[in-house]
Amino acid sequence: MKTIGLIGGMSWESTQSYYTLLNEGVKAKLGGLHSAKIFLYSVDFAPIERFQSEGKWEEAALVIQEAALSLERAGVDFILLCTNTMHKILPLITPHVKTPFLHIAEATAKALNAQDAHKAILLGTQFTMQETFYTEVLKSHHIDVVIPDAKAIEIINQIIFQELCVGQIKTTSKEIFLKIINDLKCHDEQIDSVILGCTEIGLLLDQQSAYLPLFDTTILHVNEALTHALNE
Ligand code: GLU
Repeated sequence: MKTIGLIGGMSWESTQSYYTLLNEGVKAKLGGLHSAKIFLYSVDFAPIERFQSEGKWEEAALVIQEAALSLERAGVDFILLCTNTMHKILPLITPHVKTPFLHIAEATAKALNAQDAHKAILLGTQFTMQETFYTEVLKSHHIDVVIPDAKAIEIINQIIFQELCVGQIKTTSKEIFLKIINDLKCHDEQIDSVILGCTEIGLLLDQQSAYLPLFDTTILHVNEALTHALNE
């Protein structure tokens, strides 16, 4: 079994999901007392979030680069950056890190392709929805991306940072998300899927509550990691 490096803490609410899902996956495959071989480097999210909102992405990248180099020194075989948003700075750090990263949007696109999904609503932070670093990866895999309007983007972003990242799961917010999904679908019949493009959204929405297939990036990233870790 290969050793997985996790860069977590963004937020730690979803890093817990990564840890649990990776161990459950290894147990399901190997049985008995088997569990995942993991090094976790968990950052302090407060300064990272400040760098994001102030547009100081180079500073944020330095923190992530230091984490990645620590994991490399620890001897991990590959690294998961446990957040969609911070994949924005991945191109800044990969020239300095030899260990491969499994890209969360690549894992997601692969899953949509496998299920023949072509037009997806993307929900995530404002950076993930509005900038191109994430949507370009999806588009390169022939997936059309639909994002909510400006007002809905603001609301989603607030729910992510002010509730989900601090462990608050509210029914009212779940209803807001479902209404945004339903409104978009009503205006575009061709939409066939929803990407939960923020690692905390899966804590709020589950498949039973939505009538479109949900692609949870946390689960898909973990599945990709399990394939790599157990494929020897
Ligand atoms: N975990 C979130 C994501 O997947 C948001 C936190 C962050 O800004 O990194 O994008």
